[in-house]
Amino acid sequence: MSLGEFELINRLSALLKKTSSVDLSIGDDTAVVPSTSGKLLLTCDALVEDSHFLLEWKELVRDFFFLLGRKLVSVSVSDVASMGGAPLYSLITIGVNETLDLGDLEFFYRGIESALEFYGLSLVGGDTVRSKNVFFDLFLVGGVSNRFMTRDGARPGDLVFVTGTFGDARAGLEQLLKGRVVDTYLVERFLNPQARLEEGQAALSAGVRCGTDVSDGLVFNLYTVADSSNVKIEIDIQSIPLSQNLISYCGIEKALSYALFGGEDYELIITAPPEKESELREAGFKPIGKVVKGRGVYGDGELLPRSGYDHLKGGGVDTY
Ligand code: MG
Ligand code: MG
Ligand code: MG
Repeated sequence: MSLGEFELINRLSALLKKTSSVDLSIGDDTAVVPSTSGKLLLTCDALVEDSHFLLEWKELVRDFFFLLGRKLVSVSVSDVASMGGAPLYSLITIGVNETLDLGDLEFFYRGIESALEFYGLSLVGGDTVRSKNVFFDLFLVGGVSNRFMTRDGARPGDLVFVTGTFGDARAGLEQLLKGRVVDTYLVERFLNPQARLEEGQAALSAGVRCGTDVSDGLVFNLYTVADSSNVKIEIDIQSIPLSQNLISYCGIEKALSYALFGGEDYELIITAPPEKESELREAGFKPIGKVVKGRGVYGDGELLPRSGYDHLKGGGVDTY
């Protein structure tokens, strides 16, 4: 099978009957379904040995399993954050075998528990199976009022805003793959991303309609907004926030490339009219560009390639 993740999702979802009673089905950060009070947000995400992590990384990072447990929760909370919602309940499926120590699995669960407490949700059930590759899958239910942010909400005239810094996680992954950790901050940005929950909720309260999170790469996820909203996005490359750690680690040129195409940042992208700029800056967002009529994603006037982090196409840990 050589399809990319998005092509595969399109092909498989075409086989399912459309559900008319939902607000948002397959194709955004979460599904949105009605409930008696507001809306429920549904999402799931898996971390799979050899695609997302290698068991031997525990030799490189002392708290590896703890951080991986936190990451499992954070990546799904990030999807809920991108809609402007709050996480409520979760279920876990774990696939394990004798290669995994019980102590490591317990440490992983301590990581899960610390993230559940941090974001204010609970884990209320799940399933355990035997599997050749170790994997963890979290299904998450969140809640939001009747308004929420979607990928198709960008309008010409909007500015594009982001949280945090970009490219750090890619540089952290690179160190793990090389088997040598030289900057623990960058490795932690990869293994322990923090979902931008408060920022997402603040954006929604400020009236923002368009949001997504950056799991596959800044440019790739800007394309998901541009495509769904039928607009063109122009970004100013110099304004993309970079950490000093990243620049010191690999120099400005590589830092920019990791920031644009690296993936797993779990920062938010939103678009909003310019008059909201000061309120959004206050909430932790920085402008990096604007939305105009047209198609595609441009950086300093040039069309940017739609490449990103795609586990199915082998963009995962094997080929980096
Ligand atoms: Mg997402
Ligand atoms: Mg998800
Ligand atoms: Mg996923």
